[in-house]
Amino acid sequence: MARRAKETDCKGAALTRLDYEKLRLAAKALAEAKADREWFAKQSARKQSKPKKRSGLRGPQKRRLVIALAEQQGNLCALCEQPFTESHPPTIDHKQPLMHGGTDRIANLQAAHGWCNRRRGAMSIWMFRRMLANGRIEPPPSEES
Ligand SMILES: [Zn+2]
Repeated sequence: MARRAKETDCKGAALTRLDYEKLRLAAKALAEAKADREWFAKQSARKQSKPKKRSGLRGPQKRRLVIALAEQQGNLCALCEQPFTESHPPTIDHKQPLMHGGTDRIANLQAAHGWCNRRRGAMSIWMFRRMLANGRIEPPPSEES
């Protein structure tokens, strides 16, 4: 008789507070682990499926835009603040890099030397300027020689 009573207890009819708390924590840990796994799966799927983002700006539209942006900036590079020249003409730079979710919208565009643009890559403008200031990035060589 006594054994039977114990069995019913084990089947959960009368869980103690402690048992309940243990179960709750275990369920929580399981749910968190599942969420983590899902997040990682989603991230890696996104990395694989997303091709390298490219600017949609092309041809004459792009050329007009470069000229307009450069004029708006007083013919100075938005990154190194040096003037554009024959050998270092303006190119379109994305303030927020495409790689980091930036778009081709005009508010995200500025004119910069191709030289600076390439050296900046997906770096923040702030970081580029800092590296330029401490000599870790060289400004485009001037052609007054
Ligand atoms: Zn520049």
